[in-house]
Amino acid sequence: MPIGTPTLIGLPYDASSSFLRGPAAAPPQIRSALASPAGNDWSEAGIEIRAGREYVDAGDVDLSDEPVARASIERAIADIVDRGDRPISLGGDHSVTYPILRAVARVTPQLTLVHVDAHPDLYDEFEGDRFSHACPFARILEENPGIRLVQIGLRTMTGHQREQAKRFGVDVIDMRSWSQGRRPALRGPIYASIDVDGLDPAFAPGVSHREPGGLSVRDVLGIVQTLPGPIVGADVVEVNPSEDPTGVTSIVAAKLVRELISRMVETSD
Ligand code: MN
Ligand code: MN
Repeated sequence: MPIGTPTLIGLPYDASSSFLRGPAAAPPQIRSALASPAGNDWSEAGIEIRAGREYVDAGDVDLSDEPVARASIERAIADIVDRGDRPISLGGDHSVTYPILRAVARVTPQLTLVHVDAHPDLYDEFEGDRFSHACPFARILEENPGIRLVQIGLRTMTGHQREQAKRFGVDVIDMRSWSQGRRPALRGPIYASIDVDGLDPAFAPGVSHREPGGLSVRDVLGIVQTLPGPIVGADVVEVNPSEDPTGVTSIVAAKLVRELISRMVETSD
């Protein structure tokens, strides 16, 4: 069971976005918000989260050759998980989660995938692309019967994706049931995938697909801070800096990254 060092890794890739490009520019923005002197390094649980101490920063993967990007992502994440460490990936669009999970599931085939998003991302294909950012969870579940998917924050379910959710046995906590107080019962090992558009655009406007009626920052912090261990990896995806003139969405993403690392450290033993 990997309980190694949380390892930040940037995945500057947005060629599988269906509407707007932009998330490829997010990793340096999120890193700079994480290091900003406007805040400090302490998590809400009282753990100081320092690069080179509580986590390491592996930099960005070179994904400029788009046709081989998925293979490059899978290899980069395999390097981390094969030495027992725990990747925290900065997207990038949500298509990156499929190659990430290929590498993670090879080491940890039985896990609960906690997915925060406005969208189910369960399309069998989207506009002819099976690897679109609208499809990663269909690919992941086809390949990994040992993964239990729990989706939180959904509010854009189509008829096709409802069928897909049923076919794959997905535990869906959409915004209506979240508002009524439904919460997931989670068991580790956990992998957390946070699409920042799962938050309400009032909190995180810098995304490609703004969908009103979403989670608050506090809601998502509550999810992260109560994840059971071990947490074997996480990603924070879909920040679009070109839609984020004030930079607040990168600040929200950086806070989520700090709290994810803190929770990983807290649940390590
Ligand atoms: Mn998504
Ligand atoms: Mn989304």
